[in-house]
Amino acid sequence: MDQIIEGVVQFQEQVYPTQRELFQRLAKRQEPKVLFLTCADSRIDPTLLTQSPPGRLFICRNIGNIVPPHGTLDGEVATIMEYALEVLDIEHIVICGHSDCGAIKALLDPNGDLKAPAVTAWLRYAEAARRIAAVMYEDKKGLELLRAVTEQNVVAQLNNLRTYPEVAAPLAAGKLGLHGWYYDIGTAGVDVYDGSRNSFLPLREWATSVHRAKAHGGR
Ligand SMILES: [Zn+2]
Repeated sequence: MDQIIEGVVQFQEQVYPTQRELFQRLAKRQEPKVLFLTCADSRIDPTLLTQSPPGRLFICRNIGNIVPPHGTLDGEVATIMEYALEVLDIEHIVICGHSDCGAIKALLDPNGDLKAPAVTAWLRYAEAARRIAAVMYEDKKGLELLRAVTEQNVVAQLNNLRTYPEVAAPLAAGKLGLHGWYYDIGTAGVDVYDGSRNSFLPLREWATSVHRAKAHGGR
């Protein structure tokens, strides 16, 4: 904990003075345009990864970057979704899964139930990913299977997002973008889900194809 206290003091004395204007502006209001939903894993730092200053990302974190479908009893994500879309007018939502995800490992481990029953119950929202991967990637094992299920979980949670009325409406009107990411902690690689190909592409490749499509009047 000492490191945390020292960190705050260092922030107050060395970082804050260099960005005082930004913080004083942010003290009055926030206008983030991106909701970044990712796993609670300590190795993911959304602001570091996207090089975002304070105020740019509205962040939601939970075990396994999960979005319970609209109308289910686990309402915390629903609250964030409602605030993000109805109050902040968020324009993009990123769901970011990651390598070596403990939640996905637990999902693949049928013997882990007793140690963390609440986590096991929560992971039922990722069960679709496990089953899809089981039929689509029968031959995959180990790290390959873990990655496949992690990617399918991102896709499944994107689908769950669409069950929220406050998401479905702006999405239909073309005012909201949904993005699925896979982040590789060890290499800093980010792959982006391309729905038209039903596969994940390296971020730069995906960005190039989107720009090209826009230039030709596409999406
Ligand atoms: Zn995780």
